[in-house]
Amino acid sequence: MVLMVRTDRRIAEGKARRSSLISVMSLASMATSVPAPMALPMSAAVGAGAGDSFAQMGDEAVQLQAIEALVSRPNPKGGLEAVLSRVEKAELSDADAVTLLKTNMDASVAFLQKRVSNPDALRLLRAISQDMGDRSPIVQVGTWVFCDAGWGRIEQIEDLEGHPVEHFIRGQTGYRLRVTLRPSVDAEPVVVDLDKREVGFLKADCIYTCAKCDSFSAGDCHLIVSGHNRVAHGNIGPSFRKERLTTRSLWVLEYSRRAPREQLANPSRPDDGSEIRGRGVN
Ligand SMILES: [Zn+2]
Repeated sequence: MVLMVRTDRRIAEGKARRSSLISVMSLASMATSVPAPMALPMSAAVGAGAGDSFAQMGDEAVQLQAIEALVSRPNPKGGLEAVLSRVEKAELSDADAVTLLKTNMDASVAFLQKRVSNPDALRLLRAISQDMGDRSPIVQVGTWVFCDAGWGRIEQIEDLEGHPVEHFIRGQTGYRLRVTLRPSVDAEPVVVDLDKREVGFLKADCIYTCAKCDSFSAGDCHLIVSGHNRVAHGNIGPSFRKERLTTRSLWVLEYSRRAPREQLANPSRPDDGSEIRGRGVN
């Protein structure tokens, strides 16, 4: 009896397998009888040439590994260009590109910052900048700026048509920044025009500039004598001049996500990843 039961079960299982087999074969024959569309989506194409697709996937993985190795090199330009090129051709997703770019973050940011006129490069730069904290190249409201008039906080960013924008990338110049110089000291409102390369005072009738560093201007000369000169120049022999206009040329530019330790001082570390431009240069 026991044997019979097992035999019956095998027969039953065999019927089930045959039934499944028949149903798969039926589907296969049905599929071949349906006219193929002119262009199949990728997922549908896998069925017809699965072997080829898997081979392509293997090639793809090898190529991505090769690109990752190039990106990780001390001179990664070739790898970075390969990543950007693939994104431009929609051959690589942004998420995968960001993963590759993050293997050499500093070089990737520098590479993409030079290509911000390219929408794909700008989008990737914004994506990889999310985790950079103070070193992020994104300038936004609340970012601090050190210019020829001293330290200030960005209150609003406008494009050249006057429309407010949320942020831009360091190195871009088509913006005007509404800035409050030294908010906790004299709170002087200015406009830093990156396009015209000038700092315009909005309220002061006249302005004075520290003649020692040329990087501090205020409507009150006493702020130079008793404030800035003390914290920036050791309180020795203050020197200042009265400017002819209430506008200063923009030669010095540095952004910081953190407030300066002393709003009357100059940056203590001018080469800490910020951008200070030498006078007469850029
Ligand atoms: Zn000074």
